[in-house]
Amino acid sequence: MKDSIIIHCSATREGQNVTAADIDRWHRQRGFWSIGYHYVIRLDGTIEAGREVSADGAHCMGWNERSVGICYVGGLDAQGKPKDTRTVAQRTSLKRLVEALRMVLPSIEQVLGHRDTSPDLDGNGIITPNEYLKACPCFDVLSEFGTRKEAK
Ligand SMILES: [Zn+2]
Repeated sequence: MKDSIIIHCSATREGQNVTAADIDRWHRQRGFWSIGYHYVIRLDGTIEAGREVSADGAHCMGWNERSVGICYVGGLDAQGKPKDTRTVAQRTSLKRLVEALRMVLPSIEQVLGHRDTSPDLDGNGIITPNEYLKACPCFDVLSEFGTRKEAK
């Protein structure tokens, strides 16, 4: 049962035109049986399918059984530092995809960024930047998509 959507970036540099096939190849090199994400959003906004939504993803330790993983291409600036590099087309596609998934999967209760799944070290219920294990997806998903349920 998928109750969450988790958003990632591909951690590639701004403008680098990566496809789902590229990510599939990288993930197979890491030993996965296929791309770990369910969807990839390319620079031009094209939404590519990865794993079947009904299959568990391989994108976020501890969350793979309960989440749909979406990855937008980008996330790093030219120097390789974390940056929200989403194009206008990617923002539009991401919004549409999240809305569509929420419609077809009524079990979805929350939309998180990968970094929001980091351990809450001080236990105050908020994952603060000093607690992020990774910068991914390099933007504030909670303020854009606005839902977080208590961790189970
Ligand atoms: Zn990630």
